Amino acid sequence: MSRPRPVDRLIRALARLPGIGPKTSERLAYHVLRAEPELAQELVDAIAAARASTRVCSVCFNLDESDPCAICASPERDRALLLVVEDPRDVAAFDASGYRGLYHVLQGRLSTLEGIRVEDLTIAQLLARVGDGGFQEICLATNPDLEGEGTAEVLVERLRGRGARVTRIARGMPAGATIAQVSAAILADALQGRRELR
Ligand SMILES: [Zn+2]
Repeated sequence: MSRPRPVDRLIRALARLPGIGPKTSERLAYHVLRAEPELAQELVDAIAAARASTRVCSVCFNLDESDPCAICASPERDRALLLVVEDPRDVAAFDASGYRGLYHVLQGRLSTLEGIRVEDLTIAQLLARVGDGGFQEICLATNPDLEGEGTAEVLVERLRGRGARVTRIARGMPAGATIAQVSAAILADALQGRRELR
């Protein structure tokens, strides 16, 4: 099928986003082209502004407008409790559930399939933070799937004997669900029911 080359370029660019297959990218591209021109301009502007105004926190690796991020800089947070998550989306989800400790964002999870190793994540930085002391509890809140559990197992090995309790969120989440998808109430329960790993 022949398409105008710029349309083809847009479809290929959209297909590089996670969870967007070729059919979906084609549908989105044609939608943007048919919709009022303001939609296309708003997408361009919103992407550029979000890109330009967010940075990665050098302490916890969350995404925010400032570095250190608002959470790391806040005097209101419980600095003895550290929640280890895969992704900045999980920070937003746990904060919406009422969690008020600090975070460490791994920037992914270990995966033999995708070749993601310990050194590809912020695990060394996590160990350095914990080594500096001050945390009473490190709660591992990676996703309750195969790779998330595997990542938690590696972390508990490495965090052992560093002076803080290591806990894992409860397995109350629906099977196959990810942290970024479930409701604040489910996350609050998962945190409430966390248990110590030895
Ligand atoms: Zn931070």
